[in-house]
Amino acid sequence: MGILDRDSKFYRQLTDIVTDDERRRRVQFYGVFLLLGSVSAVMTAINVFTDKGTLTWVTFAFALLSIINSFIARYIRVRGLAISSALFMLELAAMFVYFIVSGNPDGFSAIWICMLPACGMLLFGIRAASILSLGMWLILVFFFWTPVGRSLLQYAYGETFLMRFPILYLAFFLLSLLLELIRHVTQRELARLREQYRFLSAHDTLTTLLNRSGLKERKKDIHVNGTQGVLFIDIDHFKLVNDTYGHAVGDSVLASVAEVVKTHVADAEICRWGGEEIVVWFPGGDFHDEIADDIRRDVEKLTLHIPGSGKSVGVTVSIGVATGDRDTPLDELILLADERMYQAKSAGRNRVVYN
Ligand code: GH3
Ligand code: MG
Ligand code: MG
Repeated sequence: MGILDRDSKFYRQLTDIVTDDERRRRVQFYGVFLLLGSVSAVMTAINVFTDKGTLTWVTFAFALLSIINSFIARYIRVRGLAISSALFMLELAAMFVYFIVSGNPDGFSAIWICMLPACGMLLFGIRAASILSLGMWLILVFFFWTPVGRSLLQYAYGETFLMRFPILYLAFFLLSLLLELIRHVTQRELARLREQYRFLSAHDTLTTLLNRSGLKERKKDIHVNGTQGVLFIDIDHFKLVNDTYGHAVGDSVLASVAEVVKTHVADAEICRWGGEEIVVWFPGGDFHDEIADDIRRDVEKLTLHIPGSGKSVGVTVSIGVATGDRDTPLDELILLADERMYQAKSAGRNRVVYN
């Protein structure tokens, strides 16, 4: 199994990090520190062996500062990330200016500047990184393209390098910008779709009430506190509505009944249990006996005008009510309320049976 296989542990961890903005920033942060810190450490070693003088101290200091930055980000809770990222950028900019001016070794160090846009995008996102990258570009332009800047250079760069390097850097910046833009949009879209998927998998689209699995999920998060109440609501002779006026009218009636139920309950979970059945669960506190009859009465008052025909349709509901203490399982309450709803049907419909 490859490490980028969807089932691999690495891939799953990566997915968790990439989809969580806060975690992603933290990991990228340490990643960038680690990367640049290690590169500096390796370069320091190389500089020691090739006897590069000041450059050795600069790369050594930068490696050390990267470690200090990681500690600040890790251990200073309040704004640790912000402080160390600002420090890091200052250090990086200072080191790059030294690279440009000194040209040490052999005019090569300036090329490292090409890493700045990509690192900036990883750490700070599009806006701040663009400002930083363009700021660095202006510094480059000052030193490489203006007579004053050129007079400050301690290394005799070739004219071709001086003319072309700022353009190469700009191309790196634009490429980093494009990649970050794509990543940003992809992640946002992914988050939106994930949210939408979560909603759709837990809700019914016609009524926007919870569906059964949605209720089951909600149950896991809810702490039952006090008396529980369950209403089992079933629309009377609903099949007749469909048969008489058509399925579309039936749908509108169903949605309207769901709206009535919503207006009567605040702290309760409302679930479309089946076709024309709605279960309301009060996990505690808010339940009182009159709610069921209030709902029944308001549904009875409901009239839905049928477009184009001048007719209107009305429905009634039969409701079974069950209550229990905090330890009564919800399934048991729903079953009991369902039985009472059937008793309401047998007793002539459009009524509430409590016990
Ligand atoms: P009762 O008073 O005994 O409950 O009679 P009823 O006709 O309401 O009950 P029955 O179980 O015989 O019929 C339920 C109907 O609900 C049948 C089905 O076509 C309809 N139904 C279920 N889901 C939907 C839906 O999403 N939209 C529409 N329009 N109708 C639905
Ligand atoms: Mg029915
Ligand atoms: Mg039914």
